[in-house]
Amino acid sequence: MEDSLTNFFEEYMGKESIFLDRKAVQSGFTPTNIPHRIEQINSLAGILAPALKGERPSNVFIYGKTGTGKTLVTKYVTENMANISLKNSLNLKVFYINCKIGNKADTEYRLFAQLCKEFGFADLPDTGLPTDVIVDKFKHLLEEKKVILIIILDEVDELVRKIGASILYKLPRLNADLKESEISLIGISNDLTFLDNIDPRARSSLSEEEMVFPPYNALQLQNILRERANIAFRKNVIDNGVIEKCAAHAAKEHGDARRALDLLRVAAELAERQNQTKIMITNIDDAEDKIDRDKIFDSIKTQPKQHKLTLFSIFEACSESSDRSVFTGEIYNKYIQYCSKVAAAPLTQRRVSDIIAELDMQGIINAKVMSRGRGGRTRKISLAMPSQSVPKLIELLKEGLNL
Ligand code: ADP
Ligand code: MG
Repeated sequence: MEDSLTNFFEEYMGKESIFLDRKAVQSGFTPTNIPHRIEQINSLAGILAPALKGERPSNVFIYGKTGTGKTLVTKYVTENMANISLKNSLNLKVFYINCKIGNKADTEYRLFAQLCKEFGFADLPDTGLPTDVIVDKFKHLLEEKKVILIIILDEVDELVRKIGASILYKLPRLNADLKESEISLIGISNDLTFLDNIDPRARSSLSEEEMVFPPYNALQLQNILRERANIAFRKNVIDNGVIEKCAAHAAKEHGDARRALDLLRVAAELAERQNQTKIMITNIDDAEDKIDRDKIFDSIKTQPKQHKLTLFSIFEACSESSDRSVFTGEIYNKYIQYCSKVAAAPLTQRRVSDIIAELDMQGIINAKVMSRGRGGRTRKISLAMPSQSVPKLIELLKEGLNL
């Protein structure tokens, strides 16, 4: 047993890898060359350039679907400016925060605490002080440093969801109290309708300038992939048609470069695991399945407890039914049983119905509204994933619920 494991590792080490530099197809990698975004790079640079002369740039709102290069371009332009400012001893500072990841910006207090930290004031308690006090502290720090501060709020819709839109005019309004420093904002969102649905004051404050990032088409995605593949892989390890197929697939999914890169990376990993010397077209189909499976896995794993209970009841009810689908009403009894098994207080049928609708929206199940005559309506529920994945998902839920 141990010998065969040692053999496996030794063979693995002796083998020529498909990869030269795996990082280049991972999502965190920042390429130095950014094809098809010259226009956006130039226009953002033009908007922000006044900061290098000590003037406040306009606030900018950047929007476009996921994977269209918004984060990449914004970081690329602002990091370049930060370097120039360092070289020329200018007082420009860039602060980037992704409002979706972690809890660094889930209250107004925490956001200002992060900003203070950025200026070297790290001893703030995590909560506790009144928000006014911390805002004053931040203003004080800014005045001391005499800077132009560009605050990048990535996934800004998430910030607004958590703490409200007023932050988008509160922050720029601080400029009225500042003599030595200025603040400007860049807000980034994947949600194309974000601005339409927020307080008009917040909207006009953030959108002094607006930039749209259009989806990439298949040819553009091919160029992006080739560029990254040249760094990531050894020569001649990509079979004909592979790049084209990844690009075509991602172009169908709203021109998402992240999706294209994920497909290529996972296809390469699968090829490597199967001891292939080349990445083949068939690997892409398998990669696609794997990515979808992983996505469903992750989204189920992170559901709240009541959602897990509802979903588990659906799984069980479906697997008992001959056509693998059930009506809403049949789920509730099961749900009550499982609640008592794990000693959870059951929700009302109405609330469970809402949860079912949420699971439907997230694409984990399909709920089809059917009329029952006399104006009555019910929903027919089926699972949205391939049946091979179901046993594993049931195990995952059991584990999560201690069932
Ligand atoms: P968004 O923020 O719009 O969702 P990102 O900027 O995170 O998209 O881009 C998604 C992925 O695609 C990242 O890995 C990024 O490096 C890559 N990417 C996007 N556009 C380009 C491009 N024009 N050239 C090279 N890589 C790109
Ligand atoms: Mg982004």
